[in-house]
Amino acid sequence: MISCDYNRLGYTCPEIPVEKSNKCMFHDEMYIHNSKNRKIVQNRFYRKFNNMIDSKKNPLECVGYILQDVKLVGNIPIDVNFIDITFKGESDFKKSVFEGRVDFEECVFEEKMHFESHTFVGDVNFKKSTFKGIAYFWNSTFGEEVNFEECVFKKEAYFWNSTFGGLSYFKRCVFKGVNFSGSTFVKKGEFSQSVFEEEVNFSQIIFEKEVNFERSKFKGDTDFKGTDFQRIVSFHRVTFDEEREILFDGNLSKISFLNTTIPNKVKFGPNTKWNDDYKIFDEWVIDSTEEEYYDYKNKLFLGDILLEYNNLRENYEYHFKYQEAGKFFIRSSEMLRQYEERGKVKLETSKFRITLKKFLSKIKRRNEKNLDNDGETILKKKWRKRNLNFSRIYKLIGDYGESYLKPLGIVGGVFVVGWAYFTIICDWNLIICSDDPISYGVKRALAATTPYLSFDGTIEPLDYIIKATTLPFVGISFIALKRRFERKYRH
Ligand SMILES: [Zn+2]
Repeated sequence: MISCDYNRLGYTCPEIPVEKSNKCMFHDEMYIHNSKNRKIVQNRFYRKFNNMIDSKKNPLECVGYILQDVKLVGNIPIDVNFIDITFKGESDFKKSVFEGRVDFEECVFEEKMHFESHTFVGDVNFKKSTFKGIAYFWNSTFGEEVNFEECVFKKEAYFWNSTFGGLSYFKRCVFKGVNFSGSTFVKKGEFSQSVFEEEVNFSQIIFEKEVNFERSKFKGDTDFKGTDFQRIVSFHRVTFDEEREILFDGNLSKISFLNTTIPNKVKFGPNTKWNDDYKIFDEWVIDSTEEEYYDYKNKLFLGDILLEYNNLRENYEYHFKYQEAGKFFIRSSEMLRQYEERGKVKLETSKFRITLKKFLSKIKRRNEKNLDNDGETILKKKWRKRNLNFSRIYKLIGDYGESYLKPLGIVGGVFVVGWAYFTIICDWNLIICSDDPISYGVKRALAATTPYLSFDGTIEPLDYIIKATTLPFVGISFIALKRRFERKYRH
């Protein structure tokens, strides 16, 4: 007897071909077009499906079928391979229970598909499937690995209030609009190189492990409000549409925007949490000794992190948050003071030197110690280089021109000391003074600490020394105030 000639990667179909065709009713594309045949196909499929469950042959395999209005009900105790199936009409799986692995690879769902409030016990695979209607997965529990890699969602996809217990792959997906709000990802979430064409809701999500959005494109309004990223979250080389509202408002202490432009429309809400002193993750990680970050930090470059700070600073300034913007500026200046990049030339010479030393003196321990550092691209400068320089002084006395209170405080301190000194020398009659000691002290100290103010009386070199030392501090506080006013009137 001739059987259906459908063949895919070793799968052969045992069914008898329909009239005027080489393929059976499940594989012939034309057969299902006739509405009478639709019912026949449906009934045959359900009968076959139940027989397969009864035979307990694992896995249950249907490959390349073309089915209409599929509605599965009841327990399916074995693994299911539904590969390359075209589901015409609405497909409804919400009243079925898949107890094993579920494989829907390369399927096409032509209308709505229902999987809401579902508990998937085993792995779930929808790799390379196309959802032409709305995909309902809300309130679901995925017990194991979930694979939606390279899926195309042509309408909305609803995954809200779901729990993803295993690794979740949504790599290279194309989403029309998607809602994951209120979900929990227990293991890694992979969303890299995906395209989000329209509105995206990632709010109130808990990502317990790392999340990757690398090279993704957000083309619609995007909401990350209240989302808790507990491990590294990579937004490397991400594209945000400049005209769309993108909102972050949660724990961002482990987020990285490396090589990503942050447009003005991106907004960091009032509940945004950075590390202390607005230190971003990419700076924080350099000093981390945790092994899990080792590979990550070895790929970092100083310039990229500085640019990241600059982008955040500009975004905060755009939203009138000058104080926070100033903190990002201080951090980037601090990075420049404390770290240096291991240059390529330097690496080669140091390696050459190590080899030479090894060859000549065989001081092994020291060489090994040097080699340990080889992986790191950003190194902490030596103490002397970090602390004995102008930047260090500028940080101490004025937070790189961001603080006017620090330098003014120093001038105030000098004034108080000067006042006490001048009062005492007057009071103890060490000098001739006409006023009472306190007002004499005030006058002379005020004149000494204030530029352009002079004191008519005895002036000693000390007064000039005070004037000369306080002048720069007054200047620095002036710079900080000027910066603040300029920012205020820029927009
Ligand atoms: Zn067939």
